[in-house]
Amino acid sequence: VIEKLSAAVALLDRLQVLDQQRARIEAERLQVLHRYRELRARDSDFDSRSVPAEVALALRVSNSHAESQLALAHSLAERLPDTLQAMHEGTVDLAKARALVDITQCLSVEDARGVEARVLPKAADRTLTQLRSAARYQRDRVDPTAAERRRQQAKADRAVYFEPMEDGAAQLAVYGPGERVFQAWLLLDDTARRLRAAGDERSLSALRHDVLLDLILGKGDARVSVTAYLHVPAISLAGVGDDPGILSGYGPVTRQACQELAAGDATWRRVFTDPISGVVKDMDRRTYRPSATLAEFVAVRDGTCVAPGCTRSAHACQVDHTVRWADGGCTVEGNLDALCWPDHRLKEACGWVLTQPQPGRYLWTSPVGQVHERAPESMFEL
Ligand SMILES: [Zn+2]
Repeated sequence: VIEKLSAAVALLDRLQVLDQQRARIEAERLQVLHRYRELRARDSDFDSRSVPAEVALALRVSNSHAESQLALAHSLAERLPDTLQAMHEGTVDLAKARALVDITQCLSVEDARGVEARVLPKAADRTLTQLRSAARYQRDRVDPTAAERRRQQAKADRAVYFEPMEDGAAQLAVYGPGERVFQAWLLLDDTARRLRAAGDERSLSALRHDVLLDLILGKGDARVSVTAYLHVPAISLAGVGDDPGILSGYGPVTRQACQELAAGDATWRRVFTDPISGVVKDMDRRTYRPSATLAEFVAVRDGTCVAPGCTRSAHACQVDHTVRWADGGCTVEGNLDALCWPDHRLKEACGWVLTQPQPGRYLWTSPVGQVHERAPESMFEL
């Protein structure tokens, strides 16, 4: 048993030595990079923009990667030499060094070294996360005015980001002043934990997700209505075929997802597309008064403003009578089009003539007699 234990300890010791060696090699690498830049800077025809490209070519890495390495080397050599020295001694690894550079970047050299002096002695015994929070604390202590300024900036930049992902998922991120975003996180976490404690078997992670989305979207009668457009090939909805649908503004969703969404949830509008041409044919109309539905249908069918080359979303356009109401045009599908305001003016005041020989098919005649056809477009690559 003792033999086994000492063999295990020997392996851990070996790992420690290897990590120290790696830190030393990284330090040397960064110094060489820094020296290279300095050497090149002495050339009379030196252009600093060329250096990253030269390094990138030699190391077969991307330009931006070389650039970030050079910047790191420069910061360590010029601003935090003690950290670079600690890497040489194997007490600070690359990740920790980078963290110190990033966190002190906004400070003067003098203040940056003040922070370094306070956190470096304990850096070897701290994890990366611990080191980061110690460094952040010292940074805000050294310059509290700047810390508050950064917080105000975060407040001004507050935002929510939506990012569709490749695998049928998407991400919603909330950015803003830390203490407030953290408060929201605490509420989610606390609610999820209480549900868990009460016997809910979903994972904590899944519970936080469900609690958040229930709060935003509402549950049951409290559901808040928002309209999203789900384009489905008519065949898929009937349960035949496996073609994905397209959620407008997001991208493709699987047939199963279409069916789950279509099953009675009024916040989704199904848009039926012709299975052959992929062109919008009709839309679920049950939740809107006819006129609103018709306007909405026209916007969905046209997709964008129908003027030649215009890409403004039809939902941001006005619904226009192709043949003016005053000239006897009717309020029907085949006489309504989506036009943005500037293009509406083009038609009304600049002598462009628009006709709609079939619903969704447009012919434009310019004042000099050129004709442009805008055919209905398919959302699908059929
Ligand atoms: Zn337009």
